[in-house]
Amino acid sequence: MEFTFTQQEEAFREEVDRFLKTELPADWAENSMHWPGGYGTMELGDEEKKKISRDFKQKLAAKGWLTIAWPKEYGGHGHSYMEQAIYDERISYYRAPGWGIATSIAGPSILHFGTERNKQDWVPRIASGEIEMWLGYSEPNAGSDLSGIQTTATEDGGEYVINGQKTWSTMAHMSDYAWLIARTDPTGHRHKSVSLFVVDNQTPGITIRPLINIAGEHSFNEVFFDNVRVPKENMIGQKNMGFYYLMTALDFERLLVGVGGFRSVFERFLDHIKKTERDGAPLGKDPLMRRKMAEIAIEIETAYLFFWRTAEMLDKGQIPSVESSALKLLTTGLSRNMANVFMEILGPHGLLMPGSKWAPFNGLSPRGYLDCISATIGAGTSEIQRNIIALRGLGLPAK
Ligand SMILES: Cc1cc2nc3c(=O)[nH]c(=O)nc-3n(C[C@H](O)[C@H](O)[C@H](O)COP(=O)(O)OP(=O)(O)OC[C@H]3O[C@@H](n4cnc5c(N)ncnc54)[C@H](O)[C@@H]3O)c2cc1C
Repeated sequence: MEFTFTQQEEAFREEVDRFLKTELPADWAENSMHWPGGYGTMELGDEEKKKISRDFKQKLAAKGWLTIAWPKEYGGHGHSYMEQAIYDERISYYRAPGWGIATSIAGPSILHFGTERNKQDWVPRIASGEIEMWLGYSEPNAGSDLSGIQTTATEDGGEYVINGQKTWSTMAHMSDYAWLIARTDPTGHRHKSVSLFVVDNQTPGITIRPLINIAGEHSFNEVFFDNVRVPKENMIGQKNMGFYYLMTALDFERLLVGVGGFRSVFERFLDHIKKTERDGAPLGKDPLMRRKMAEIAIEIETAYLFFWRTAEMLDKGQIPSVESSALKLLTTGLSRNMANVFMEILGPHGLLMPGSKWAPFNGLSPRGYLDCISATIGAGTSEIQRNIIALRGLGLPAK
């Protein structure tokens, strides 16, 4: 077993690194308020920051880097998943804007189980960075068990008519299309009566209302569908197969782990500890601090190993399912541990929120402390990930 990149992979890593160092503002990572592993506090920022993000994403699209591992005929680069992982790691290390639901979840899913028409309709627009999507899965009465969704899509001529409500819809207000599941056979089996659709946010009958999260930000929404008419060709794949497609899409979602973000934020804190004195002694001499930092360092290395492993599996044509659940469990646990340890290290100053001139790291830690819980819920709770590992990985019975 050799844990090294090939020459080609190493060269690609250096190319991405150079690009990020040149194209991003020098203080971008330092100013990032996105806690590693968390996604309750997205990189929202002010108008200037949003513009830099948009322009930067366009540059990535122009290089074909939003879709590195996609086949060339669909606007991709045809690179390996390992190179995709190398790119993802570097992007997250520099805290750069470079991923989205459309490129990371919808696109790969359409390539996997979409019809040829679906591929032609959506893949080029996703690859060029033209459109962004939000995930319309959860409902007030369906979260962990999505086979219980009540939103319906009823066939009417050349269209489906959608009625129902979605909730916890991250970034729906800033996206162009919903990647939505709805029940297409009200009398069918729970797992064989759901279909996947792409729905234009501008369609009459859609109402998006903000939900403010624990950090006081507008990242979630609740979205209402009142007789929303969607062309039949916006159904992805086959009718009533949506639940099975969703399982694959969720595996892709759980692979979206910015391992590089853990490392870069950790390095900043390590640097702080090395330079700081408390009560006349270097902070780094405190035995408790040393032990906790060592533990976090080990967790980061373990996350990296799982991360590279999932990329290798994808290159072998396997879909990492148990592995993506394990990766999610590991990194969301790490996200929480890191937030706890950094709050302890910073002491009372760690309570100061962004905006305070005395806040270390501009208040990243308390923001992370609030956000890290959300990661253990979104994309399937930790309990559900343990169930998946027990069932699919260990072969234990369902109940
Ligand atoms: C930050 C964040 C972003 C999100 N973004 C989106 C989004 O963009 N789109 C979207 O559709 N949804 C989104 N969600 C919703 C998320 O997917 C659901 O909250 C999650 O799947 C849990 O569903 P629930 O809230 O209905 O909880 P429930 O399913 O009601 O679960 C409640 C509790 O019971 C436990 N539980 C449930 N079933 C089992 C079981 N079988 N075994 C053991 N324990 C169980 C759960 O672990 C949990 O602790 C987001 C959530 C968060 C926190």
